[in-house]
Parts: sequence; structure tokens; C-alpha cells
Amino acid sequence: MSLAFDEYGRPFIIIREQDSKKRLKGVDAYKSNIAAAKTIASTLRSSLGPKGMDKMMISPDGEVSVTNDGATIVEKMDIQHPVAKLMVELSQSQDNEIGDGTTGVVVFAGALLEQANKLIDKGLHPLKIADGFDKACEIAVARLDEIAEEIDIQENNHERLIEAAMTALSSKVVSKNKRKMAQIAVDAVLSVADLERRDVNFDLIKLQEKTGGSLEDTRLIQGILIEKDMSHPQMVKEVKDAKTAILTCPFEPPKPKTKHNINISSAEDYKKLYQQEQQYFREMVDDCKKSGANIIMCQWGFDDEANHLLLQADLPAVRWVSGTDIELIAVATGGRIVPRFEELSNDKLGEAKLVREIQFGTSNERMLVIEDCKQSKAVTILIRGGSNMIVSEARRSIHDANCVIRNLIKCPKIVYGGGSAEIACSLTVNQEADKISSVEQYAVRAFADALEDIPNALADNSGLNPIEAVANAKALQNSQTNPRIGVDCQLEGTFDMREQKVYETYLSKKQQFQLATQVVKMILKIDDVIAPEQ
Ligand code: ADP
Repeated sequence: MSLAFDEYGRPFIIIREQDSKKRLKGVDAYKSNIAAAKTIASTLRSSLGPKGMDKMMISPDGEVSVTNDGATIVEKMDIQHPVAKLMVELSQSQDNEIGDGTTGVVVFAGALLEQANKLIDKGLHPLKIADGFDKACEIAVARLDEIAEEIDIQENNHERLIEAAMTALSSKVVSKNKRKMAQIAVDAVLSVADLERRDVNFDLIKLQEKTGGSLEDTRLIQGILIEKDMSHPQMVKEVKDAKTAILTCPFEPPKPKTKHNINISSAEDYKKLYQQEQQYFREMVDDCKKSGANIIMCQWGFDDEANHLLLQADLPAVRWVSGTDIELIAVATGGRIVPRFEELSNDKLGEAKLVREIQFGTSNERMLVIEDCKQSKAVTILIRGGSNMIVSEARRSIHDANCVIRNLIKCPKIVYGGGSAEIACSLTVNQEADKISSVEQYAVRAFADALEDIPNALADNSGLNPIEAVANAKALQNSQTNPRIGVDCQLEGTFDMREQKVYETYLSKKQQFQLATQVVKMILKIDDVIAPEQ
């Protein structure tokens, strides 16, 4: 838009031709938006469930990742369409809030859009559809509330938590070792959980990847792990009841800030200088010894001479510890970061039950474990695996399992998986639809159909006949009034998900329904798309 003046000085506005903009209106806009969003959902559909497939994503710079996690897949896809990007955000908000169910939420939103598309073809106004979906979502969540079961998270040595974590892990790369991984996740979360406030601080759980070994070597360390080793190969590898001096000053003679030259003209002078240097080192080591420290963590390097003296003084030391690790050690062990040797004293030392060096395979790579720290309950899950890709995917899977356990600590309620909860809600929503007299009835019924798409996808991905599997589950739920009947993906011989021990958290399922409905409503309300011509 620009302002111009005619020959009499009267202003007028020139509006740039709108032809240069691409514009979609009305039904065309709805259709195009729905098609874009559905493309994302159909990509994720085959990844849903215990028999879901993985996707290989290759970044522009050639980095390859293989994953089954919905949020990661959509994050790594190169998506241009603005409505498709809404689906990406949908998966990510489920990830941020709940951490699990990121594939399911997108597949469900896709199914809702598919249903909306059919209703638009029938001539229903998108706003009516949106209102109907809203109503149906309320009914579904109310039904979910009814069928949700409260669990005792302490029961049978936290068995229920382990089973819930195992359900989350069953579709992931770690599924073969899911019992072990679930146990690690439960132990990790419970060791940092504040059960009174029903809260878990994930900052205290460090997931450390280390390529090499196999997934079975993944383990939980009750403390922190740093990628360092002792500064001298002959130093002790294990310090019990460690008293740690945490230093940010180097074991080197002080250096003047400005340039100075020392002229050494005789052997005597040289000897004197050498002795002076030795003196510095000795004083430094003495300061450490006097403070009562039995291990040194230093942010800087040591002179070889200092290293040797430390070894002689029986003081194991670690050099070049990164700034963040220094802070972590200080926080966990309750020590103070000391910038000068003279300031070291016993009360500034950090305490831990055990500091030890561990070694991996034949690669000669070492790490330092600081266990049972005095101040914090921080734990580390050391994730091992044959390749970078496996380790990264295992990390994402363990994160999902951690999230499931955290959610159960926050709200100890579960619903059964395998599509059973969706079928139960779908049946109720269908019944309620008959009671609605307006045209919204169609949208409510469509919502019920969309709910069935989750068990459908699970059956499809497991090589079962989806129509048969879902019809069977619906019939059994009705005849046995049992909302736990779902799809037997693993062919265990029972449709009852309680017997199969397939649980999901109530929080996650509720959030899936609500988030998907919100996004679909938003997409349905867009009737005009104005974009610059490419
Ligand atoms: P998400 O990223 O959404 O968590 P998943 O690929 O982990 O997706 O699949 C979760 C779905 O798989 C849930 O609907 C869950 O109920 C179902 N599921 C998980 N394990 C089983 C199982 N053993 N049998 C049947 N369904 C299962």
C-alpha cells in the first residue's frame, strides 16, 4: 500500500494488486487445510502401537536418525504448509506437557479431520462440526473419567509403575529389554521424586549417552557421571567417603599478567627457579592435603610436575572438568567452588560416599562416577547401545517412560490401552449422539467414528483385519460391559488389556483427546488462506 497525490494535491492510496497473492476461500480452504494436516497424520499412523514401524529421518547435513517417537518424527520433517505445522505443534505440546502419546494424538487429529471432510461434503457448516466435536470431546473425557482406575503406585514393589512404563516402551527400539529399562526408569524417577508434593524434577535425572556395548548394558547410577578420568594412570581408581576439593585455579605457578623476561645465566639460577617452582607446587598440594580433601576436581590443567607431586601425596585428581560439571558436582556434593588454594578449608569440601573410575569395553574410554552425593539425589541413566542411532532412540524411549511414571506420580490413574479406552468412549459418545436434536448430532457421531481409528490403526499395524478386530472388541465390550477389551496386537490370546497389562496414563489419554479436538477446531475455523505467491 502506498500514498500518492494527484495533480491538485489530493492524497490517494494505491493498493498493490492482490493478484500477486495466492488465495483460497471457503470450501477450498477447508479442503486444502484438511488435506495438508491429514498427510502428517497418515505418515505417523504406521508408527502407532507395539508393532508400529520406525522412520528414518535424514537431515540436510546428512545426519541420520531412526525413530518411532511421534514428536521426533514431525520435528525432523521438513514441513512448509502452515496447517501441517499446526500438527507438528500438536505433537510437541503433547510431548511438552505429558511426554508420551505423541503419535496417538496426531493420528486421532487426522481421523477427526477425515470425518470433518466427509461432513463438509454432506453440506454441514464447519462451525457446527467444530461445536459437535467439542461436545463429543466432553462426553468422551467424562467417560474416560468413569473407566479410569486409581492405582496404588507403591503396590507390589511399584509393579504397576513398571507395567505402565513397559507399555510406553513396547513400541520402541528397547522393547526387547523393556522390563529392565522400565525398572531403571522407575528407580530413577522414584529416587528423585518428591512424593509429598507429587512432583518430579527432571533436572535431577541426567540421561548420559555412551555409544558402545549393547542396550543391556544400560544402567542406573545413583549419582553423577562425568566424562573424565584420573589425571595420572597410577592414581587410585576408587575413593570411598570422598571429600572433594572443587577448584577453579590451575596447579601451575602463578603467571604475571604482563610480559616479563627472566634471564638465567648460570646453572645456579636455573636450580633456584626450579626449586621455587617446586615450592609453589608443594604448597598447593599441601593446601589441599591440609583441608582434608582426598580427591581433587579441577577446572584447569596441571603441570606434569604437579601431577607427579599429587600422585606422591596420594591425592587422586581430575583435571579439565567442564564448568557445568564443576557446578553439578558442587551442587550435588554440597561443596564450594574454590578459586584460590589459600581459601581451601574442610567445610568447603564436597562429600560423596564413593568416587570411582569406570572403563568401557576395549576402547580404553573412562568415566568418573560420583555416587551417593551428600546434598542432592541426582541420578544418571547411562545409556549404551551399538550405534549412535540406537543410543539416541533409546534415550528418547527412556525419556517417554520417565514421563509416564512422573504422570502417574502426579495423578495415579490409568486407563487401559490397546484401543480399549477409545472404543469405550466411542460407544458412549455414539449413545449420547442420539439424544442431540440439532445437526451437531452428526458431528458427535463422527467424533465417535474417529475414536475408533486408534484401535483400527493398532490392528492394521499388527497385521490384523482392522474391521474384524474393532467390531469384535466393540461387541465384547457391549456384551460383557467390560471397557478393558481392546485389540490383541501381540496375539497373546486375550482381548482384556488388564490381563495383558497394557496401561496408559489417564492424564495422557485425556490430554490427547482435548488437544486433538482443539487443533481440529482451529483448522476448521479457517475459511480464508492468503499467502504470497511462491
Ligand atoms: P505414542 O507415541 O502415541 O505413545 P506408541 O507407538 O507408543 O505411540 O503406541 C501407543 C499405543 O499403542 C497406545 O494406544 C497403546 O495402548 C498401544 N499399545 C502399546 N502396547 C500395546 C500392547 N502390548 N498391546 C496392544 N496395544 C498396545
